[in-house]
Amino acid sequence: METQEIGNQTIKVHHYNTVIIGAGAAGMNCAVHLYEFMTDKGIEDAQNRIAVVTAGLASGASRMSGSDKQTYYKMGTSCEMADSAEEFAESLAAAGCCHGDLALAEAIGSLREFYHLVQAGVPFPHDSMGSYIGYKTDNDPYERATSAGPKTSKDMSECLEEQVRRYGIQIHDHNEVAQFLTVGDKDSKRIIGIATIDKKTLTSNDYALNIYYCRNLVLAAGGPGELYQTSVYPKGQVGIHGIAFKAGLSAENLTESQFGLASIKFRWNVSGSYCQVIPRIFSTDSDGGNEREFLADFFPTMSKMATNIFLKGYQWPFDPQRIENLQSSLIDVLVFNETQKGRLVFMDFLHNPLGNDSMKEFDIEDLEPEAYEYLKKTGAVKSMPIERLFAMNPLAIEIYKENGIDLYSEPLEIAVCAQHNNGGFAVDKWWQSNIPHTFVIGEMAGTHGIKRPGGSALNAGQVGGLRAAEYIVNVYDLDTPDYSDEHARINQQLGWFATTLDKYGSSSGLVGKEVIRRIQSRMTASAAHVRELNDARKALAEAVKDYKKIQYEGFKLENAEDIITAVRAEHLALTSVAYLKAIVELLKQGSGSRGSHLVLADDGMEIHPDVTNKATGKPLKFKPENEALRNSILRIKCDPQATDLFTCENISVRDAPADKKAFEPAWHDYREGKIYGN
Ligand SMILES: Cc1cc2nc3c(=O)[nH]c(=O)nc-3n(C[C@H](O)[C@H](O)[C@H](O)COP(=O)(O)OP(=O)(O)OC[C@H]3O[C@@H](n4cnc5c(N)ncnc54)[C@H](O)[C@@H]3O)c2cc1C
Repeated sequence: METQEIGNQTIKVHHYNTVIIGAGAAGMNCAVHLYEFMTDKGIEDAQNRIAVVTAGLASGASRMSGSDKQTYYKMGTSCEMADSAEEFAESLAAAGCCHGDLALAEAIGSLREFYHLVQAGVPFPHDSMGSYIGYKTDNDPYERATSAGPKTSKDMSECLEEQVRRYGIQIHDHNEVAQFLTVGDKDSKRIIGIATIDKKTLTSNDYALNIYYCRNLVLAAGGPGELYQTSVYPKGQVGIHGIAFKAGLSAENLTESQFGLASIKFRWNVSGSYCQVIPRIFSTDSDGGNEREFLADFFPTMSKMATNIFLKGYQWPFDPQRIENLQSSLIDVLVFNETQKGRLVFMDFLHNPLGNDSMKEFDIEDLEPEAYEYLKKTGAVKSMPIERLFAMNPLAIEIYKENGIDLYSEPLEIAVCAQHNNGGFAVDKWWQSNIPHTFVIGEMAGTHGIKRPGGSALNAGQVGGLRAAEYIVNVYDLDTPDYSDEHARINQQLGWFATTLDKYGSSSGLVGKEVIRRIQSRMTASAAHVRELNDARKALAEAVKDYKKIQYEGFKLENAEDIITAVRAEHLALTSVAYLKAIVELLKQGSGSRGSHLVLADDGMEIHPDVTNKATGKPLKFKPENEALRNSILRIKCDPQATDLFTCENISVRDAPADKKAFEPAWHDYREGKIYGN
């Protein structure tokens, strides 16, 4: 094992052609494609040129998250309804702020990647003729969605991991990424390696550092889940946004996160069947007493209320455009309103919804036709929600049982949680970032627009990995690079890094866990699904102050584990500044309520006199979307000299390429490798 000495630390050094950070569905798929493309090119030891580096093989959203039947949104495979890549791309980009070339690439690559997963062994259901059956999800005009069950993304990651292991690709587990190593400046800047801390062998004196040098780097470290207090991201899903910003990557659409109803004791989405079986939703005080049917005061009839609970199933993300006129996102607002009062909200599968004195009792036959017909079609016209859930999707009950919650005996506590970021780092149509040789895939890449059809995150992650791998293998050298010329610059950065870690060890610094808690509480209060300009400005100023304080004071460490917490706290602090800065800039442009967040304004529309703004105690009023902004995307970049540490610009949405060549010239371009040019 090659080693390098920095200060009093011995660092293990590794060399690869391509390093992938992250072992979720996106990262694993990219590793598989890289190996296959390299092998096709005649590289005999492709497995020695690729490495997957991850903080936790069993961690991340793909491995730990899901819902009733976690959705994979692909191009239609129905025997009766024709679909096309252009129509699919239109659905992806329908709500605006989505680059046309990325949407089209995700559409064109969709079935190739879907069948790649089928080949890898993911148990997507098909009928006796081999047809993959679809269903309808939120924002989905067709039945393009499919599922392998509550844990689709886990199945995907595990099947792909098996392939990675069969190919002999190294997976470096327990490695928290702490720093990128860069050379060059401005346009010549390159990320040539990453420094990690091995969490398993870390001690107070030995930081267990590793360096992975590479020619190409693929970032697949997922979303910044730990930014939020009220979150359905799996615990420990930190991501590496802060590190990537520091290295100079630009991000887009950070403002467009998704929020929705999820259970919080065991973090899981309560979308799909959980709502379609129409459970009772009620609240209690913080001790579990004083039960209230709080939804009933806001709906005129039991039928309307129950039908809206049903619709939440496939209109899952909170959507400010589905509040008015008693639509399904009113439920998210009311759940949030209730939790703001310090009350707890539950979903109860043992009772049908209870109304108030002016409502009829729940009767399944009174449901609006869309709900009733679906229940009939799925064989779920039963008397109680738990029976309907068992009939419709027994695995949805099983998943809670596996996690210590028996839906036959206890209600589920729920809240409106942060779930996904549609935005992320900016990529071109080959998923390459603004720094050549660095690619971003999966949830870290900002390829979605304001809204996305449910399930399209998993599709995007697979296509992104395919595109990045194809580009790397066909355009860049496949050697293992030698950076000895850059010795001085690398050592300087490693020296700074080791000094930072030493500084963390001072006895008087900040406590990492407290810093993270402060970030999470601020982000949930000011950067989640309810936003207001002055409040966001205040939160941004506090976040900048916190980040600067970390630079001056460092962290107090009591044990080795605190080093990891400190690294995370520092990068989450910078990430939170980026998200808040983007939010402030967008609000300043008068963006209004869009995607999955409400924007409050005194002159906005009132929801209901009893739905109040916690800060003012007055009725909550929100501003509609400014649709003129749908053709521009807010891009953000770290600039340590800027007052808020980041600068923003509006860029135009890129169109999909319109040129269609005849077969022969297209074949020529392909043979000559011209397809990889601009
Ligand atoms: C509850 C829930 C339900 C969802 N349902 C759906 C759905 O139905 N359909 C859909 O399309 N999408 C859904 N999503 C979103 C989707 O699951 C994720 O966007 C997707 O799985 C992300 O995959 P990924 O490979 O990009 O990242 P992840 O699967 O999150 O993997 C990230 C990897 O990076 C590693 N990592 C993270 N931080 C670090 C670090 N600091 N250092 C080193 N390694 C690090 C992790 O250990 C992990 O290996 C859901 C998300 C949630 C939370």
